[in-house]
Amino acid sequence: MLEHHELVIVGSGPAGLTAAVYTARANLEPVMVEGLAAGGQLMLTTEVENYPGFIEGIMGPDLMMRFREQALRFGTRCITADADSVDFSARPFRIRVSDLELTADAVIISTGATARMLGLANESRLLGHGVSTCATCDGFFFRDHDIAVIGGGDSAIEEAIFLTKFARKVTIIHRRDELRASKIMQDRALANAKIDFRWNSEVIDAFGEGKLSSIRLRDTVAGEESDLAVTGMFVAIGHDPATALFAGQLDLDPDGYIVTAPDSTRTSVEGVFACGDVQDRTYRQAVTAAGSGCMAAIDAERYLEATKHVPAHS
Ligand code: NAP
Repeated sequence: MLEHHELVIVGSGPAGLTAAVYTARANLEPVMVEGLAAGGQLMLTTEVENYPGFIEGIMGPDLMMRFREQALRFGTRCITADADSVDFSARPFRIRVSDLELTADAVIISTGATARMLGLANESRLLGHGVSTCATCDGFFFRDHDIAVIGGGDSAIEEAIFLTKFARKVTIIHRRDELRASKIMQDRALANAKIDFRWNSEVIDAFGEGKLSSIRLRDTVAGEESDLAVTGMFVAIGHDPATALFAGQLDLDPDGYIVTAPDSTRTSVEGVFACGDVQDRTYRQAVTAAGSGCMAAIDAERYLEATKHVPAHS
């Protein structure tokens, strides 16, 4: 089946859904390929207290449901399936979703990123209940707690330093005896009295009924196992942008993030825009993703307006 639309949005987190609200209200009748795991990373979080406008906070999935309802209200059509392939080499652009082939004059990509997890048996059960992947989002909930931060890169060190504002103690657990983080970040962490290090250590399990209470560590050199009592564990071992679909079609940076032009959401292909965590390795917040979704909507709208005289199948 072949369908043509002015605008197709691929991905349905805060960025894509904000782009949908804006473009739907601009009468572009956007079609959103929302994916089988619609809603993005907020679907995996519990309480969100830093999204402006929600004074008492809101659960991540509820927030996403509200975004979606708002997008639907203005006429967005959602396709609950994953995009299988895209072709941006010719116009109109093509997006295949199982046996449906969508063609589009403009595309907004908002497929997001996923935080890497350790793969522990209890990790997903305790996610949002002591286990977190975002200190900026959840640090506030850990006042006077003992916290572990896993990883040795800039993210882990930055999160650990940030968490010392709240925590009683922060233990950085790193699988080697040398940090990957930049020297200046290392120095800051080493000088921070609230931060301890457990070198050559990997987390092999997490425990807690309802909430995290401890983690089990294994010494990567000696092989010894030990338990550490913590009520917070921040996993900071990197993110993977969801860009496998776009490799070879759009410019990606060495870590796979879509490259966008400064101060815009334009990608290396004119008419294809990217917003949210798929192009942002720095801020990674729902509100910044939503903001860049708005930018993508405005960029796409202007692009479509400017190219209206060009026949769709040129
Ligand atoms: P990263 O630099 O790739 O570091 C990931 C860390 O997690 C590494 O120390 C790695 O250990 C560890 N790790 C990976 N998989 C693991 C596993 N399965 N179990 C245990 N540990 C594991 O990622 P990042 O820290 O998120 O940083 C990503 C990029 O953003 C980097 O370029 C970074 O410089 C940049 N960044 C910059 C800032 C800043 O400048 N303020 C802040 C945040 C991020 P190994 O070291 O043994 O590989």
